Amino acid sequence: MSNSVEGEGWQRVHPAEHLRSGYTSVDSLLPDADWFWWSLQRFCVPDCCGLDAYDLSAESVAWACGWGTVRPASSDRRDEKPGDPRELAVALRTAAQQIRALDATCVSASLFNHILVPESCAGLLEDLADKAEPETISADPGQS
Ligand SMILES: [Zn+2]
Repeated sequence: MSNSVEGEGWQRVHPAEHLRSGYTSVDSLLPDADWFWWSLQRFCVPDCCGLDAYDLSAESVAWACGWGTVRPASSDRRDEKPGDPRELAVALRTAAQQIRALDATCVSASLFNHILVPESCAGLLEDLADKAEPETISADPGQS
């Protein structure tokens, strides 16, 4: 098992060291979904470990959203009443667009405690949106 927070669809990119002294907070842009963020903090808490506190695997996100059936090995906690994962996915994608539109060299949020370049942060949110949406049965299983 890997504890990497990077999925197939997302790579974290840290700003150059000399740019990290200041960053733009994106707290206000992130979806207000405590149930989601809290459930994903399976390894630790962001105040201690930054993004490494989160299990951002597809299984972990699906489990947090209430429709996943695979219990994440890291921790199987989730909110008893998860929010609507489709609404969450829309909000995550909206936030990603807003973060891309920022005039900023680096961004962070208290939820992440992890400074990233805006494109990386936006990519993270889009990756989460993809994983949060319930899977639909493929109409043409021959394609992948
Ligand atoms: Zn920690």
